[in-house]
Amino acid sequence: MSDAGASPWPAQVTVDLDAIAHNVGVLRGHAGSAGVMAVVKADAYGHGLVPSARAALAGGAAALGVAQPAEALALRQAGVAAPLLCWLLTPSVDTDALLAVDVQVAASAPWALDLLAAAARRAGRTAQVQLKVDTGLSRGGAFALPVGPGDPRTDFQALVRHAAALSAEGVVRVVGVFSHFAYADAPEHPTVRAQQEAFADAVRLAERAGLDLEVRHLSNSAATLTTPAAAWDMVRPGLAVYGLSPVPELASAADLGLRPAMSVSARVAVVKRIPAGQGVSYGHTYAPEQATTVVDVPIGYADGVPRHASGTGPVQVAGRRFRVSGRVCMDQFVVDVGDVPVAAGDEVHLLGGDVDGAPTAQEWADAAGTISYEIVSRFGPRLPRRHVGEAGR
Ligand SMILES: *Cc1c(COP(=O)(O)O)cnc(C)c1O
Repeated sequence: MSDAGASPWPAQVTVDLDAIAHNVGVLRGHAGSAGVMAVVKADAYGHGLVPSARAALAGGAAALGVAQPAEALALRQAGVAAPLLCWLLTPSVDTDALLAVDVQVAASAPWALDLLAAAARRAGRTAQVQLKVDTGLSRGGAFALPVGPGDPRTDFQALVRHAAALSAEGVVRVVGVFSHFAYADAPEHPTVRAQQEAFADAVRLAERAGLDLEVRHLSNSAATLTTPAAAWDMVRPGLAVYGLSPVPELASAADLGLRPAMSVSARVAVVKRIPAGQGVSYGHTYAPEQATTVVDVPIGYADGVPRHASGTGPVQVAGRRFRVSGRVCMDQFVVDVGDVPVAAGDEVHLLGGDVDGAPTAQEWADAAGTISYEIVSRFGPRLPRRHVGEAGR
């Protein structure tokens, strides 16, 4: 799978669908009796929305999750019929379109419920809703904690009350309640326990209001792998589906039995000798101490190679490890390969996938001062994506 074969592309992303299916199997092993909702937002973290979603379902995912409505619609348009939750709404959302193709929608505020109820009345149907509760991330969701002393009322209580009224009217069916951790990658952090307790309270509140919940879920990849007690009825992993460790300080992907699905490679465009002391790439931030061979690699920050990894990003050429020499440019970067014989057209591995010894997304993240999530999800649309493997085809 490392060999791009007769590919006409200077650089490309290869995604192993069998690795995605395998990783979902690993996550199911951790989830116990809870189902796996595979998160496929952001073009499946850069792996390709539809093929990745199908591979995850083939691996045993019970449902799919996305952030934006357009992502949900794209999945339905491609014929993906699995239960599907979309959780990032703004008031301009086309709720009619989502309702027409049976997308479950997350509501963080009463206005979202009203939009869904209105769409449901127009269509003469019932809208499927999940209530998003903020248990301490302070991002999306209705806040479930009291804001000041002496006033125990919360946004989440108001959301539940509104949902119960619309549910009694029959225009809305509340199928679930969910929340999201702030510190799942540090399982000993006190907020992990506090958010679990706040979530249990929120679930109790919703059930006491008469909502008959099918699913209650809280766990992203890190929590699925490290905090099994938080699994409830469903877990909601993203990163680990693609074979990357959400807890790199605690365990590598290999330690977790995960297989990185993405590899990224390019073909050497130019090979040349330069003299000692010759500055390389913009700003001449790198200069070799002796005469050397440099190669030009046709992939750059416009494709998602982080410019912050100038001088540090790891690559493998001719079976040997090197680092980016000097600055990453928009379409290319340079590598000093010393006296190792390299020819134009030779393959340069940026991300190895299963290739022995090739760099990992975590190494790129360390080189660029970021997280592996950002590395894989930023490999952009200029790079063709080649899907290999059988899962979900
Ligand atoms: C992105 C996201 C996830 C998946 O998180 P990972 O850390 O990639 O497993 C789960 N739930 C919500 C609400 C998200 O936004």
